[in-house]
Amino acid sequence: MAEFTMELNDEQKEVRDWLHGFAADVIRPAAAEWDEREETPWPVIQEAAKVGIYSLDFYAQQYFDATGLGIPMAMEELFWGDAGIALSIVGTGLAAVGVLANGTEEQIGTWIPQMYGDPSDVKVAAFCSSEPDAGSDVASLRTRAVYDEAKDEWVLNGTKTWATNGGIANVHVVVASVDPGLGSKGHASFIVPPGTPGLSQGQKFKKHGIRASHTAEVVLDNVRVPGSCLLGGKEKLDERLARAREKARAGGERVKNAAMATFEASRPAVGAMAVGTARAAYEVALDYAKTREQFGRPIIDNQGVAFQLADMATSVDAARLMVWRASWMAINGKPFTAAEGSMSKLFASETAKKVTGQAIQILGGNGYTREYPVERMHRDAAIYTIFEGTSEIQRLVISRTVSGLPIR
Ligand SMILES: Cc1cc2nc3c(=O)[nH]c(=O)nc-3n(C[C@H](O)[C@H](O)[C@H](O)COP(=O)(O)OP(=O)(O)OC[C@H]3O[C@@H](n4cnc5c(N)ncnc54)[C@H](O)[C@@H]3O)c2cc1C
Repeated sequence: MAEFTMELNDEQKEVRDWLHGFAADVIRPAAAEWDEREETPWPVIQEAAKVGIYSLDFYAQQYFDATGLGIPMAMEELFWGDAGIALSIVGTGLAAVGVLANGTEEQIGTWIPQMYGDPSDVKVAAFCSSEPDAGSDVASLRTRAVYDEAKDEWVLNGTKTWATNGGIANVHVVVASVDPGLGSKGHASFIVPPGTPGLSQGQKFKKHGIRASHTAEVVLDNVRVPGSCLLGGKEKLDERLARAREKARAGGERVKNAAMATFEASRPAVGAMAVGTARAAYEVALDYAKTREQFGRPIIDNQGVAFQLADMATSVDAARLMVWRASWMAINGKPFTAAEGSMSKLFASETAKKVTGQAIQILGGNGYTREYPVERMHRDAAIYTIFEGTSEIQRLVISRTVSGLPIR
C-alpha cells in the first residue's frame, strides 16, 4: 500500500504540467465557443486523442496509480480548462470504470478499447443508470433485463435519462433490474455493443451549464445482447442473487449493487473536477482583483476583496486535500468508514458553487457577462452538487455513517 502523500512525484508533476498545457492551450480557448454551440466538441476530443490524453492507456495509468493522486490531478487540470469540454473528454471514463469495477478481464479487454476508438476515429461511451423515476432513488429503476436461455441473450427494455454521451456513444453500459423483487440488489450492468438494434437516443437536454457535454435519454426497446455482455458473467450474477435472496429471507445486511460500486469509486473524481473549476474561477478573480482599479487603487487593496480571495483559496485547498485523501483510500482499498468519499464530493462541489459565485462578485459587472469566463464556470459548477449523488444524498450517506442511524 502506498503511503498517503501530498507531494506529487516527478513523473506526476510532468504529467500535471503536460495536462495543464493542453488545458490552457487547447481546452480553455475553445470553451466559450462550445458552450454556445451546445455540441460535443469532437475536434477537441480528437486533439486529446492525438496527444494521448483521450485514451485507455492514459486513463488506466492514472486510475491504477497507487498513490491515488493520478485521477484527481488529471481531473483538476482538465476541468480547470473547461468543465463542459473536459466532461466530453472524461465522460467515457465513467462507463470504463463501470466495466473495470464489474467486468471480467475478457470484457475489459474487449469493450474498453471500443469505448475510446482511436485517434483517427474517436468514440465515446455512456454509463446509463438514471431513469425518469429513478434518480437519487437508484433502487427503483424500471429497466428490465430478462434472460432468454435458449439463445443465451439478455433482452433489455426501459428508458434511461440524463446519460452523458447517451445515444452518441459507441458502447453503452446499462444498469437494469434482473430481479425487481430484490430492489437494488437485483441490479446488473450490461454492455450494449455498437449498432445494437433497439437502442436509440431520446430527448437531448438543453442545459444550464457543461453545455459542451452531451446529455440525453436512451430508449431501450427489446434490445438483445449476447450473454457475454452481462458484466461479471452469469455465474457471478447467480451467486450474488442467491446471496441477496438468502439475506432478504434472513432480513440481513444490505448488499451493494453494481451501480453504487461505480458511483462510490468515482465520487472523489467528481470532487476533483469541482476543484478544477473552483481553482480556475479563483485564479481569474485573483488576477482581476490585482489589475482592476477603483478609488485610485487595485480592488485587492481592500480587505473586503482580499479576504474573500483568502477564503476562496482556503476552500479550494481544503477541497483538494479531502479529494486526494479519499482517492488514496479508494485505490488502496481502505473502506470509507467515515464516508470520506462522500465528504470529499460534498465539500468540493459546494466549494465550486460558492467560489465561482464569489468570483462573479469580484469581477462585478464584467463577471456577470459572457465576456469573462467566471459566469460560465458558475453555471458549470452547479452540476457537481447534482450528478453522481446530490449534495443531499452525500449528507445522507455521511450522517448515516457518523450516527449509525437510519437517517431518512
Ligand atoms: C448533466 C447531467 C449529467 C448526468 N450524467 C449521468 C450519467 O452519465 N449517467 C447516469 O446514470 N446519470 C447521470 N446523471 C443523473 C444524475 O446522477 C441525477 O440527476 C442525480 O442522481 C439526481 O437525480 P434526479 O435528477 O432524479 O433528482 P431527484 O432524485 O429527483 O432529486 C431531486 C431533489 O430531491 C433531493 N432528494 C432526493 N431524495 C432525497 C432524500 N432522501 N433526502 C434528501 N433530499 C433528497 C435531491 O437531493 C434533489 O435536491 C446526470 C445528470 C445531469 C444533470
